[in-house]
Amino acid sequence: MSEDPVYKRVLFKASGEALMGDQGFGIDVNVADRIAGDIAEVHRMGVEVSVVVGGGNIFRGVAVASKGGDRVTGDHMGMLATVINALALATSLRKLGVETEVLSAIAMPELCQSFSQRAAKHHLIKGRVVIFAGGTGNPFLTTDTAAALRAAEMNADAIFKGTQVDGIYTADPKTTPDATRFNELTHDEVLRRGLAVMDMAAVSLARENNIPIVVFSIHEKGGFAEILRGGGRSTIVRDN
Ligand code: UDP
Repeated sequence: MSEDPVYKRVLFKASGEALMGDQGFGIDVNVADRIAGDIAEVHRMGVEVSVVVGGGNIFRGVAVASKGGDRVTGDHMGMLATVINALALATSLRKLGVETEVLSAIAMPELCQSFSQRAAKHHLIKGRVVIFAGGTGNPFLTTDTAAALRAAEMNADAIFKGTQVDGIYTADPKTTPDATRFNELTHDEVLRRGLAVMDMAAVSLARENNIPIVVFSIHEKGGFAEILRGGGRSTIVRDN
């Protein structure tokens, strides 16, 4: 296996649910610390890493809308949840001595910097891990779309989508034991087959900007770095 990382600049998407561990709600600090450890390992390899975190472990806008409430307000609440997660992950990274900056799509200067492409690139070039909070800053969208958007803005070489399983399968491997994992797919195939890996807007944006999506297990300690060393298990979505 080569020592040179496969990609030099990556955007890592972690769902909010990944941070809650077995708790069913909120943040399990031990899990946040472990994920931070995986990011730190990749950072030590000299890879420029930015992160988009979700908020589903705390709040999703549809929870308000499904009970007759205002969807936009619900989405605002969901975006605030992503800020809580971003601050948690930043704390875990700083405990490991990794310089980390949180940039929010929704201005809250007392808590963190506001997002701008220039500031984000500046921090990346300075060797800091950048965590993007607040999703895209717009309702009706998801943090998957935010991940594709930020990856395009950062000129990232790839999006690393951490999921519950180690790639994209023909069917849900938890309920269909003989489901098989794809090694490689094109963005078009993912869209055409309706494979539920990221939402369609995110996959389309990645396709338009020719950004590969590496789908891997967020639960496998060291899995992120392993893939960047040229090994590990994943499905890669790219157009050749
Ligand atoms: N959200 C939003 N706009 C965005 C990103 C997120 O309105 O650009 C809201 C939306 O309500 C969503 C919630 O924030 O349900 C949490 O994000 P997401 O569901 O993507 O989190 P994940 O599933 O990754 O934990």
